[in-house]
Amino acid sequence: MIPENLDELRSKAREFAIREFTEDRIRKYEEEEKYPEEIRRKAFEAGFLNMNDPWGMLVAMEEFCRVDPGLGISALSAAFGSEVIMLFGSDYLKRKYLEPVLRGEKISGFAVTEPSAGSDVAGIKSRLERRGKGWILNGEKIFITNGTVADHFYVLARSSPPPSPEKRHHGMTMVVVESSWPGFEATQMKGKLGMRATSTAHIKFHDVEVPEENVIGEEGKGFYYVMTFFDISRIHVATQALGIAQGALDSFVEYVVSNGLGNRESYQFAIAEAATRVHAARLLTYDAADRLFRFSPDPVRTSMAKYFAGETAVHVTDLALRYTGLRGLTSRLEKFYRDAKIEEIWEGTNEVEKLVISRMLLKGKR
Ligand SMILES: Cc1cc2nc3c(=O)[nH]c(=O)nc-3n(C[C@H](O)[C@H](O)[C@H](O)COP(=O)(O)OP(=O)(O)OC[C@H]3O[C@@H](n4cnc5c(N)ncnc54)[C@H](O)[C@@H]3O)c2cc1C
Repeated sequence: MIPENLDELRSKAREFAIREFTEDRIRKYEEEEKYPEEIRRKAFEAGFLNMNDPWGMLVAMEEFCRVDPGLGISALSAAFGSEVIMLFGSDYLKRKYLEPVLRGEKISGFAVTEPSAGSDVAGIKSRLERRGKGWILNGEKIFITNGTVADHFYVLARSSPPPSPEKRHHGMTMVVVESSWPGFEATQMKGKLGMRATSTAHIKFHDVEVPEENVIGEEGKGFYYVMTFFDISRIHVATQALGIAQGALDSFVEYVVSNGLGNRESYQFAIAEAATRVHAARLLTYDAADRLFRFSPDPVRTSMAKYFAGETAVHVTDLALRYTGLRGLTSRLEKFYRDAKIEEIWEGTNEVEKLVISRMLLKGKR
């Protein structure tokens, strides 16, 4: 059930984004490729990073991205990956790592992707080897969000060989690694197409000592925890994409009205098409979110929402740019256009989402 006070939450988030995401700040953090720590703090203090209020967080993400995705995602992803601790972590891990993140004192990251393993999570090569009562971690991760600013990371690594080629996803364990530990190294990855205010890093682990109590849940179950996390995070990504598409539509309508083009049929058609797609993306996203927030996530609906909303963000920003010409190329639309593309890649590319949907259908599970 979508809560009745959603409009109230939405207005609060929108007012915050319009006030804080000024043109100067958007450009500054983008050009300097700098993580907006002051904005993250303000958003936290205003109560937007509240994991006990999932609809509030969802609408905040949509409204923040509607104004600026780079600042919005940085501000609201400070607890990135922490759902794995919430769902599978021990009381010790919750106290040590989750609670400071929820108090806004610490930042977390989620490190799965490697140079040779993106969509194919089971192909990771980072390894955990037993040493005494704990583990030694070696390997590397790329494109890790919050990579240069997080205090700790939820890291997936192989802890035992796969039992068979069909069971490559077995034998992977998830551990919490602190960025201050010896052997941890993070280097900022610069020059992304969009979302440049978000921190993205190449991370290396050189003989990092990981205590036994930092294993999340059960040894060997890491792949399952990552997939469970995707059921949650893909809804947030769909919401980011929805916000971008709505923001591009807002700019497009504003351009058409302020230039007196509203009586031209081609503009009318383009606006109608964009608005219909945005509305469809919102319905899919809220439907998937509703399932998740009632504790019965539906991976097919989640993948449909993530795939369609990502594609909608790319399509609507492209459409709006085509119709606004030079003015669009030097307006906020230019940035929305660059920011949109990532929505079709992170947390599962469009092809991966389509595979999730079609596999379930072909297995007769729908
Ligand atoms: C800005 C940014 C931030 C990110 N943040 C994080 C993070 O915090 N943590 C993290 O772990 N990862 C993160 N990622 C990584 C992201 O999740 C991966 O980029 C994504 O999973 C895709 O992996 P890849 O880039 O290696 O592409 P690949 O998996 O190499 O895919 C390349 C192409 O092949 C297609 N493809 C792959 N497999 C198949 C298949 N079986 N069938 C059909 N087509 C296929 C893909 O759809 C894609 O078009 C981030 C990425 C970006 C860009």
